[in-house]
Amino acid sequence: MPIPNENIDILIVEDSQTQALLLQLILEEQGYRITVARNGMEGLNQLQKGFFPIVITDWVMPEMNGFEFCQAIRSREDFPGYVYIILLTAAKKSKNDIIAGLEAGADDYLIKPVDETELAARLNTAKRIIKLEYSLRKRNEEIAILSITDPLTKTYNRRYLNDHLPAAMKHAFRYNHPLSVVICDIDHFKKVNDTYGHQAGDKVLAEFVQYLRESIREESDWVVRYGGEEFLIVLPETNMKGAYKAAERYRFLVSQSTITTGAGEIKITASFGAACVSPSAKGRQVTMEALIEAADQCLYRAKEEGRNRSFAVLLE
Ligand code: GH3
Ligand code: MG
Ligand code: MG
Ligand code: MG
Repeated sequence: MPIPNENIDILIVEDSQTQALLLQLILEEQGYRITVARNGMEGLNQLQKGFFPIVITDWVMPEMNGFEFCQAIRSREDFPGYVYIILLTAAKKSKNDIIAGLEAGADDYLIKPVDETELAARLNTAKRIIKLEYSLRKRNEEIAILSITDPLTKTYNRRYLNDHLPAAMKHAFRYNHPLSVVICDIDHFKKVNDTYGHQAGDKVLAEFVQYLRESIREESDWVVRYGGEEFLIVLPETNMKGAYKAAERYRFLVSQSTITTGAGEIKITASFGAACVSPSAKGRQVTMEALIEAADQCLYRAKEEGRNRSFAVLLE
C-alpha cells in the first residue's frame, strides 16, 4: 500500500524564494506537508527540530550549499529514519553537479525548471524507499527484542543477563551502591510435569513469572529466565537485607497462589537464594559469575533445608 502524501513531511531547501514557493505550491497540491529553509544551515536547523523523511535541496546556495548540506546529513546517525535527498540543479553544467551531489549522498536529482509530473514520479520512488527502510528498521528492532527475550515467559534471557549484569555492577560500584541478585527455582517442578503434563508445566512457568513481576520494583529490577524453571532477579541499589526481604516477598506470594491450567488447579512453592555485593574494595573484585554462584549456594541451602524458603549472603 502506498504511503498517503498527507503523512509525509518534505523539507525544501532553496535560497530563491520564487523557486521555493513554486515547489511548495506544487507539493502542497499533491498533499505533502511542506517546510522551507533558505540554505543548508537553516535546513540542518529544521532537521534538528523535526524529522523530514524527504529533503529537496538546491545546489547553489549561500552559507551552506547543497554539496555540504548532503554531506552534513549523511554524516549524522541520530535521525529516527532514513532521509531521502533529492537534489535540484540548474540545467547548465548540471552533469558535474549531479555527480558531485550523488557522491555527497543525494539519492536522486531533478533539473530546474521542475516538471510537476516528473516530481510526482520521483517522490513515488522516494516513498517506496522510505517504506522499505521503515519496514527493515521495524523488523530489526523486533529481532533485537527477540534476541534478548525468552519466548515462553517473555522475561529477559541469559544473553541479556551476560550483557547487562556486568554493566549494572559497574554502575553500582561507581555510585557506591550495593547490588543484589536473587535466584529462584520452583520446588518439585518435575512432579508438576509428570502429574499435569508439560503444557500445564509451561503455563505454571508463565504464571510464576507474573507473580514475580507483580512483586518486583518495576522501575529498577529485572527478571531473567536463567534455566528451565530457574529465574534470576537483578536488584540494583539493594543491600542484603533488602534482597532477603524481596526474596521472601516473592516466595510468600508464590506459596499463596493457585495456578489455573487446562489440566487443573496447581499449587507450587519455590526456593530462593540471594547474594549482595557491596561496593567495598573487595566487593569490587567480585565478578558476575561469582555473585550468581553465591546466590546459587544459598538456593542450594534452601533446597537442602526443606524448600519453600530463602537464604541470603553478603559479599564484601
Ligand atoms: P527441585 O528443584 O525442588 O529440587 O525439584 P525439581 O523437580 O524442580 O528439579 P529439577 O530442577 O531437577 O527439575 C526441573 C524440571 O523442570 C525438569 C524439566 O523437565 C522441567 N522444565 C525445564 N524447562 C521446562 C519448560 O520450559 N517447560 C516445562 N513444562 N518444564 C520444564
Ligand atoms: Mg540557489
Ligand atoms: Mg532446577
Ligand atoms: Mg526445581
